[in-house]
Amino acid sequence: MIIPINEEQKKKAPIDRSLCTRCGRCCYLMIDGKPVKCKHLVKLKSGTTLCRIYKKRIGEVIGQGFKCGYIEASPYDYKECPFNTGRPLFNGGKPYDNFD
Ligand code: SF4
Ligand code: SF4
Repeated sequence: MIIPINEEQKKKAPIDRSLCTRCGRCCYLMIDGKPVKCKHLVKLKSGTTLCRIYKKRIGEVIGQGFKCGYIEASPYDYKECPFNTGRPLFNGGKPYDNFD
């Protein structure tokens, strides 16, 4: 999950992270109107994704003023994400459609 670097991190979230479908949509930044994949995100042939640094991802600086955080700290919802809460829908992050 990519969040603004100054965003307050929640220490522990009461959600079941096993529900994540590993779509990878939350691991994109919009830069100059274009979706840019996190450098740690790996796409698998199966259609899911993998985070190269999953165990130590939280707080990792991604660049462009952003760091990795829990999905609860994201300002966005993501298409078909089970953790959506009614936030604005992120308009990028379509990893298996049009871009890397
Ligand atoms: S958008 Fe939701 S389902 Fe997709 S990888 Fe992120 S947390 Fe998991
Ligand atoms: S560090 Fe991992 S979980 Fe965090 S945004 Fe990058 S690929 Fe996604």
